[in-house]
Amino acid sequence: MAQHYQTAIIGAGMAGLTAALYAARSGLSVLVIENKMAGGQIVTSPEVENYPGIVQISGFDLTEVLRKQAETFGAVLASGEAEELDLAATPKTFRLGGEAYTADTVILANGAEHRKLGCPGEGELTGRGVSYCATCDGAFFRGKEVCIVGGGNTALDDALYLARICQKVYLVHRREEFRASAVTVDRVLKNERISFIPNSQVKEIRGEGKVSSALLVNRDGKETELSVEAVFIAVGLKPENEVFAPQILLEDGYIKAGEDCLTNLPGVFAAGDTRTKLLRQLVTAAADGAVAAVQAETYLREQKG
Ligand code: NAP
Repeated sequence: MAQHYQTAIIGAGMAGLTAALYAARSGLSVLVIENKMAGGQIVTSPEVENYPGIVQISGFDLTEVLRKQAETFGAVLASGEAEELDLAATPKTFRLGGEAYTADTVILANGAEHRKLGCPGEGELTGRGVSYCATCDGAFFRGKEVCIVGGGNTALDDALYLARICQKVYLVHRREEFRASAVTVDRVLKNERISFIPNSQVKEIRGEGKVSSALLVNRDGKETELSVEAVFIAVGLKPENEVFAPQILLEDGYIKAGEDCLTNLPGVFAAGDTRTKLLRQLVTAAADGAVAAVQAETYLREQKG
């Protein structure tokens, strides 16, 4: 006999845990499934300073409180991967740890992964000077020399943001042309605190316990060691939603859903970084979690008639 929940949430990051809190508080039976560590992307941020109402907290502590808060209201957390998902069925069906489950509604809050450079030092120094979020971590490098990697809108917006805080910002890009919008490129190139290093890749990030330099290699194979205290990496996001296709409509890999968190399938909602959206931040993920949970509750009420 399959275990049944009124709402199954895939992903225990900020969006998923907020959805769990709201759904559980409204009296629904809630299962949250996470295949990594509960907390999502933000658990690697040592200090979060841009969550409204909290002056400073580590990503881990913030999501730990939220996890406990959701559990207090009855949400059940399970680790593992939801397999054989049938999102079009009524109820929705999936397997977890070899067991069969059913759910009246599903909230997809599985996030998106920051694309990695894959160079030595990157993994070891993440949270110790290597960051994938300039707006989250830039303030920790006030007055310092940092570098940002990438040539898209995110990297260039981040370079401008960092230039307001840091003494010097090296913008390292593997080509000469940018993907970012012309107006942003113009602002970056005119900014005296930003030094553009084209046709270069980061070969290694160095440091004992924290970042002290980035070893660059250019197209001609020439190596340069940049003395920096932080390496911000903005080389794109990688949604991992193929597993939901073709049942769920995707756009550029993201689940197609607006601010209402509705997907193309009745009873299936998308919240946080996994969906098409303008701003991928903690606060918007939390907002999505609340919206998706209310949508799930409304859907269940309408189904009952
Ligand atoms: P993106 O546009 O995909 O740009 C990623 C950048 O990273 C590219 O310049 C790419 O180089 C580089 N890159 C990728 N893999 C790399 C690697 N392994 N090593 C070194 N460099 C690598 O990603 P994004 O900047 O995150 O933007 C994502 C989307 O959001 C875009 O559509 C963007 O326009 C949008 N966005 C808009 C705004 C805005 O309107 N203000 C702000 C942020 C984001 P190549 O160019 O050589 O491929």
